[in-house]
Amino acid sequence: MQSVGVIGAGQMGAGIAQVSAQAGYHVLLADVSKERADAGKAGIAAQLARAVSKEKITAEVADQTLARIETIEGPSAMGKCGLIIEAATEREEIKRAIFAEVGKVLGTTAVLASNTSSIPITRLAQATPDPKRFIGVHFFNPVPVMGLIEIIRGLATSDETVTLIETYAAALGKQVVRANDAPGFIVNRILMPMLNEACFALGEGVATIRDIDLACQLGLNHPMGPLTLADFIGLDTCLEITRVLFEGTGDPKFRPAPLLVKYVEAGWYGRKTGRGFYDYSGAEPVPTR
Ligand code: NAD
Repeated sequence: MQSVGVIGAGQMGAGIAQVSAQAGYHVLLADVSKERADAGKAGIAAQLARAVSKEKITAEVADQTLARIETIEGPSAMGKCGLIIEAATEREEIKRAIFAEVGKVLGTTAVLASNTSSIPITRLAQATPDPKRFIGVHFFNPVPVMGLIEIIRGLATSDETVTLIETYAAALGKQVVRANDAPGFIVNRILMPMLNEACFALGEGVATIRDIDLACQLGLNHPMGPLTLADFIGLDTCLEITRVLFEGTGDPKFRPAPLLVKYVEAGWYGRKTGRGFYDYSGAEPVPTR
C-alpha cells in the first residue's frame, strides 16, 4: 500500500495525514472543500515547523512530509488509495454520506476505516461498500504525540482487513490494542465514567474543583486531574460519549452527571469556549467553583 486517503482535515484528520506522510505514505487529504483541506495542511505545516524549531525533525524531513500530502476536495480521487480513513465530524449522517461517496471509488481490495470515537462500527458498516473491508481505527489526540491506536472490528470485518491496519499502525510506529465493537471501546469505556464521576463528586459537593483535580494528580499520579482533562477534551464531547455508553449498554451506572449536562447546556464546553470547570480568560486557568 502506497497511498492513504484521509477524509476530514480537522484536528484528527490533519494529525492522521501528518503521521501517515511522515511514515512515507502518499496522502490525499479531503474535506468539505479544497479550502478546508488546505487549511488542514497549513496546520500540519505549522506543526512541522514547530518540530523543526525544537530540533525534533530536520527541515528536510518536514519538507518531504509536506510534499507527500496532496489536498483535494472530496473522496472522488481516492480510487488508488489502499486505505481510506474517515475522520470527519462525529455525526452519523455525515459519515454515512461520506461512505456512499467512497463506495463509488473504493478499490476492490482497499480498506475503509473510521476514526469515530463512539459510533458502533457494525452499524456504520451497513453504509459502507463492503463491511468485510471496514474497520474502526481510533487514534488519540494529538495524533503525532499519542502512541496508541485502538482497532475495532465490526461483526463482518475480515482478518485481512485487521492485518492491513496492523501493518499500517506499525509503519506509523504506533502500538495497537484490539477492541470488540462495544460502546466506548476500551479507553473511553474506562475514562469517561471516571470523568463523569468527578462531575458527580463536584455536583454533590464532595470537594472543590481544585481539590478533586489535585487529589487525582497527587493521589493517583495522573498527569492532570479529571476536571482539567474533561475541559481539555471538551465537555460536549465527554457528554456525547457518556450518552453513547449509557444508551449502548442500558446500564444506569453510565448515566451522565446532571452537572455535566448543565455545563453543556450553558455552552461551557471547556478550553475551546474559554470556560468549563476552569475559566481560561486569563494567563492561567482559574477554577470556577
Ligand atoms: P474536527 O471538528 O476538528 O474536524 C472535523 C472535520 O471534518 C472538519 O474539518 C469538517 O469540515 C470535516 N467534515 C465535515 N463534514 C465533512 C464531509 N462531508 N466530508 C469531508 N469532511 C467533512 O473534529 P475532530 O476532533 O478532528 O474529530 C474527527 C473525528 O475523530 C470524529 O469522528 C471524532 O469522534 C474522532 N476523534 C476525535 C478525537 C478528539 O480528541 N478530538 C479523538 C479520537 C477520535
